[in-house]
Amino acid sequence: MNCPNCGTTNLDNASICANCGRPLSTPSYTPPPPAPSSYTPPPPGGSFGGATAAPAQIPNYLWQSIVVTICCCLPFGIVGIIFAAQVNDKIRRGDIQGAMVASKNAKTWVLVAFIVGIVLQIVVWGLYSAAILSAIHSGQFNR
Ligand SMILES: [Zn+2]
Repeated sequence: MNCPNCGTTNLDNASICANCGRPLSTPSYTPPPPAPSSYTPPPPGGSFGGATAAPAQIPNYLWQSIVVTICCCLPFGIVGIIFAAQVNDKIRRGDIQGAMVASKNAKTWVLVAFIVGIVLQIVVWGLYSAAILSAIHSGQFNR
């Protein structure tokens, strides 16, 4: 190999030039990695999988409806139970779209029942404690 500095021909395995002493290890040219060609196209039909969704992916909110019916608010909870029952019924008939709608309705009514139930509890307990406080202030507990 020839020295890049002085042009002296050196042995191929020489590390420094025999004439000028300059290191002969020319920086090995590494070709740049090929342009990233790993473009993976998105899976076909990935955004819309509603028609083929597994029935197990549709929550029926049945136990949530029962819980809010017992604990919070009976009328709205019953509406939630009705929609929750429709979810399973429509899945059994293969009506996935209808089951999803019923699931959404059940969720809405569970939320409504829960919120109304909480508000009612607050109102009831607020009235209850107000009654106790007024009773204390009127001296009924001191006699
Ligand atoms: Zn040289």
